[in-house]
Amino acid sequence: MTRTLEVGDQVLLVDNKKRRYLLTLELGGEFHSHTGVLSHDDLIGSPEGATPRSSRGSSFVAFRPTLSDYVLKMPRGAQVVYPKDLGPLLMLADIYPGVRVFESGVGSGALSMTMLRSGAEITGYDIRDEFAERARSNVQTMLGGEALGRYQVEIRDAYDGIDLVDMDRVVLDLPEPWQVVPHAAQALQAGGIIVAYTPSILQAVRFREALAVNGFEFAETIEVLNRSWHIEGQAVRPDHRMVGHTAFLSHARLLG
Ligand code: SAH
Repeated sequence: MTRTLEVGDQVLLVDNKKRRYLLTLELGGEFHSHTGVLSHDDLIGSPEGATPRSSRGSSFVAFRPTLSDYVLKMPRGAQVVYPKDLGPLLMLADIYPGVRVFESGVGSGALSMTMLRSGAEITGYDIRDEFAERARSNVQTMLGGEALGRYQVEIRDAYDGIDLVDMDRVVLDLPEPWQVVPHAAQALQAGGIIVAYTPSILQAVRFREALAVNGFEFAETIEVLNRSWHIEGQAVRPDHRMVGHTAFLSHARLLG
């Protein structure tokens, strides 16, 4: 059965220069760009892959955004974890339906959404309430009320402690994750996994030192390199540009 685009759906419009725009379909809504106006009503009821035209004749392709599209286009407060790292983080943290995750900070909610979509139950701490709000509204928009029901965000400083026990996973994206390691050792069950996302290798080193003295084992630090290729006729080669660096991913398990 074709899933048509309906009122309230998120839609990704791609123009002929591959520029991407995200919108929420509304009855009578209009999308304005330098190529004129496109009426939402022309899209409502269309299948994905529809090619509406704007008032000045430019054509677009309309799809539902993937999680990756959404993360790159959603309203942001803080810097987000990029899609290239989100997938690997799911594996390193071993996220599955029903897993109990402590996450800090939540920022714009990119990492939260990724784990929620894999079925996690998350308690998140963030020190800034505007970020907590943004993260919750992004989760609601992209994943809906069921996911929001598995997402508790509290305005708290993770360096002061974690008010939880028997957690399965601790996932950190904040400036000094080593300050959270002793609290994580208390909050996690034996065998639980901790992961930290740190832009600087010096942060990774301090995190690793804290892991070593707080009962964590099997520590590993990796970075994810993603090299895309240009494929067009005989011109087949790696793209000239690549994202050189985002962050280091460090993970370990708590001993019994
Ligand atoms: N992983 C998020 C981005 C996190 S940005 C995403 O993918 O969208 C880092 C966040 O950590 C910010 O929102 C910041 O407010 C929060 N933060 C910084 N120090 C903190 C602390 N001590 N306790 C809790 N949150 C903290």
